[in-house]
Amino acid sequence: MFQPVSSKVNFSELEQRIIGFWQEKRVFERSVEQRLGGPSYVLYDGPPTANASPGIHHVLARVFKDVFPRYKTMKGYYAPRRAGWDTHGLPVELEVERELGLKSKREIEEYGIAEFNSRCRKNVLKYVKDWEKLTDRIGFWIDMKHPYVTFDNGYIETCWWIIKSLWDKGLIYQSYRVTPHCPRCGTSLSSHEVALGYDEADDPSIYIKFKIKPSSVETTPLELFFNKFLSKPVYLLAWTTTPWTLPGNTALAVAPDADYSVMEGKNDYLIMASALVNKVGFEGYREVAGVKGSEIAGKGKGLRYEPLFDPHRFGVERRGFRKNLLVVQEADENLDYPVITADFVSMEDGTGIVHTAPAFGEVDFEAGGDNDLDFVRDYVDLQGMIQGTYPFAGEFVKDADPMILDDLKSRGLLYRSERIRHTYPFCWRCNTPLLYYAKPSWYIKTTAMKDRLISGNAEINWYPEYIKYGRFGDWLNNNVDWAFSRERYWGTPLPVWRCESCKHDECIGSVKELRQKKGVEGVDKLSDLHRPYVDGVTYSCLKCGGEMRRVPEVIDCWFDSGAMPFAQWHYPFESQHLFKASFPADYICEAVDQTRGWFYSLHALSTLVTGQPCFRNVICLGHILDQAGEKMSKSKKNVVKPEDVLSTSGADAVRWYMYTSSPPGNVRRFSKELVEEVVRKFLLTLWNTYSFFVTYANIDKFDPGTVANVEHRPELDRWILSELNQLKDSVTRALDEYDATGAGRKIEEFVDNLSNWYVRRSRRRFWKSENDVDKQSAYTTLYQCLITLAKLIAPLTPFIAEELYQNLVRPFDKDAPESIHLTDYPLADLSQVDEKLSTAINLVVKVTSLGRAARAKSNLKVRQPLAKVLVKVRTEDEKASLEQMASQVLDELNVKVLSVVESLPVEQHPDWPAVEEGGLLVMVDTEISQELLDEGLVRELVHRIQTLRKQAGFDIADHIETYYEGGPSVKRVMERFAQYVKQETLSRRLVEEKPPEGAFSKSQVIDGNKVNLAVKKS
Ligand SMILES: [Zn+2]
Ligand SMILES: [Zn+2]
Repeated sequence: MFQPVSSKVNFSELEQRIIGFWQEKRVFERSVEQRLGGPSYVLYDGPPTANASPGIHHVLARVFKDVFPRYKTMKGYYAPRRAGWDTHGLPVELEVERELGLKSKREIEEYGIAEFNSRCRKNVLKYVKDWEKLTDRIGFWIDMKHPYVTFDNGYIETCWWIIKSLWDKGLIYQSYRVTPHCPRCGTSLSSHEVALGYDEADDPSIYIKFKIKPSSVETTPLELFFNKFLSKPVYLLAWTTTPWTLPGNTALAVAPDADYSVMEGKNDYLIMASALVNKVGFEGYREVAGVKGSEIAGKGKGLRYEPLFDPHRFGVERRGFRKNLLVVQEADENLDYPVITADFVSMEDGTGIVHTAPAFGEVDFEAGGDNDLDFVRDYVDLQGMIQGTYPFAGEFVKDADPMILDDLKSRGLLYRSERIRHTYPFCWRCNTPLLYYAKPSWYIKTTAMKDRLISGNAEINWYPEYIKYGRFGDWLNNNVDWAFSRERYWGTPLPVWRCESCKHDECIGSVKELRQKKGVEGVDKLSDLHRPYVDGVTYSCLKCGGEMRRVPEVIDCWFDSGAMPFAQWHYPFESQHLFKASFPADYICEAVDQTRGWFYSLHALSTLVTGQPCFRNVICLGHILDQAGEKMSKSKKNVVKPEDVLSTSGADAVRWYMYTSSPPGNVRRFSKELVEEVVRKFLLTLWNTYSFFVTYANIDKFDPGTVANVEHRPELDRWILSELNQLKDSVTRALDEYDATGAGRKIEEFVDNLSNWYVRRSRRRFWKSENDVDKQSAYTTLYQCLITLAKLIAPLTPFIAEELYQNLVRPFDKDAPESIHLTDYPLADLSQVDEKLSTAINLVVKVTSLGRAARAKSNLKVRQPLAKVLVKVRTEDEKASLEQMASQVLDELNVKVLSVVESLPVEQHPDWPAVEEGGLLVMVDTEISQELLDEGLVRELVHRIQTLRKQAGFDIADHIETYYEGGPSVKRVMERFAQYVKQETLSRRLVEEKPPEGAFSKSQVIDGNKVNLAVKKS
């Protein structure tokens, strides 16, 4: 006997029970262990951060990470998989800052880095329990008991080892670059982060006059005017929206090929681009000369001008720009403020003369490098406060803007001042306006390996494929060196020590190496490699004997996660064999935003360290939106919590939805309702088939041991077995190609065929069949379908698969493995595939479904027989096989005649409802004769009587008497089809009169007519 199966099932409860079973029996661990010695299959788990509860997008990634290792395990692969936690980084720090109410880096340092970091350490594992619970709940099998954690000393030490090996190859350097800098958070933002924070801003829009040194005119074609110029000052007119950068100005840029006009006014001359003269507007000025941009620019020639704010007067250093080192320039009257040419000068707005401050803009910085410009930066500190002795010192840069305007105005250097609304980048975390700021930063020279990064990518299989040469390929083609240092606290410390005296730098690759340094102090008590402890380790400079101290930076947390192939094993310090056995990974999977995050950092580090890519296959998941296609966000209150769906529909339903609703790379919508639809459409269809089987198998005392004894199965059984073996074949192929969507959809089709064709057309074979052989064939066929199906779906929906297996297989086979997840994946038996038969019946199924759709268009009841159905097929073979199976079509569609044609003049029957799909057209004749009408009526009456029997609570085998009162048509058909009605309803008599006392009666409306029907036990 099978355990009875109720058609009312609570999947969520069933799953909880199965989780308990797996844990008790250590099924996951055993599924891995028993394959030891098999070919290996490696998953790298992209580590999440556990400082918040997991969301539905994490569920998406985790179920995709789960399905292929499960599948490979059933295929005989040894697939241990280990979870990881990403624990460092700014988001973690910001959370702690919020909790402690700290507002700046200064406040963090006053609070104490040690205490601050210990808070970060605690916070980052705060939600590990939630993550573990969710992981169990969704059936994601991964070792969470021995995870790798990026804050472990061993993990950090491997990161040091990697950095050192890159250092030895000359791939690490420090350089000044302009980076978007948040003055509140005190650190640079990546370009990806900047993109998150653009907003409207109201800023000054000002035209400023830069006074030309008269002597510089001599080297230009304007020499002719030289004497005139002595009588009135000459200015270059520039435009800016960031007045606070003006003290940093060290050059003005012009477009070399553009024309510039000299405008003479009452008191001065102004020079600007001719093309923009009218746009700016010059009342009281007239053009007196013209000149090309290239003629007023250049080193040693061209115009030079006086600085608006000479840094030396305000106690600020001006530095030279030499080979990434900023050399301090001595104060000198003759320091140059030149005009340069640049290709970024716009003729769309401004004046065609661009104020250039190399410390505060990316293009300015590049121009500085190209033109060997000087560099004034230090009047703004990293908090954005003005330093030095300027009248506006002590102000935040944006607050200094109006004071700078006043100052320029008072000196007659402000031509015009307006306001402008434009987009400006703000910090996406704290909403502070970002400053573009030249800072020293540490770089990994990824560009040195660019070709190998690109050729390595060619060896990787991307799903979807277009990411490979699209998003990811583009990213590699436009590769820039990786700015990997962060001026923060909670991160892997950058292992570079610098001599305080002679500035000699050394990179340290291990704790042991540090310990062996001459004169080392503070390393013995170093039980935590984080700041501030590591900062206390000093040693003697081998060049000069000075004190070596660690530089203050920590590293980008993307470096940590990208280092996981090595660092998860503390390679090369221990477990070398574990690293080797798991490199490269067969499979990784994360969301598409990781092309620039984890996918990149993994690929870059592996290529730089080993020369090889470290993953072979990658699924790149699209984002999840709400039901309406909107982004989920807390403010919109449209976030779906995983628990809410898991507790109602269950994990299998969520998994199935994730796999089959759309290919993994697509954006997908998600809601409780969409998952409930999966339950209805797929899981319950499967469950009801299973429940049907168990119910009748128990009644008939079916013994699964007799499976092999059935020969000469009927056509219907051969067909479904043929379908089953084709299914095994196509599902295996799809999963081998990392196509869970294709596999799932094939399975869905099969389950639909099994339930809505095989079982429905076989129903009477199970409960009425007198023919033992036929009955046995039906049972064994359905049984075989169900147990095979359970195995096929096991990697996708592991819970329901286990449930079926435990009831259908385990009690009857003492040698069967204890769990379905310890069994082998089914192999297709292609000898059972009868393609001709499959094609033929699939055609019948298709035609029937199109026929039903055509019927539905006419709003006729299914019970109303119709005269004719016309099918236009595509080939002669289709015609032949459809004609051979005509009875099935007629039966299913409740039609009298089937006519199959290869070409069909539609205009012949313009009124017949028709449905077409892929060249297959089905139309039905909806003209109903009196004969058909009567037949429809009698079928309707039978249906109503049967319903009454059920409502009256009669047993299925009880004989009855039926009483009826209705119009003449009811009387006519009851008399004419009396035999049929009696047989179908087990009525001994059909009586046209009022029902007697005690009869179960209900008045009915049939086709608008009132009919009284009553039944009574006979
Ligand atoms: Zn910020
Ligand atoms: Zn030294």
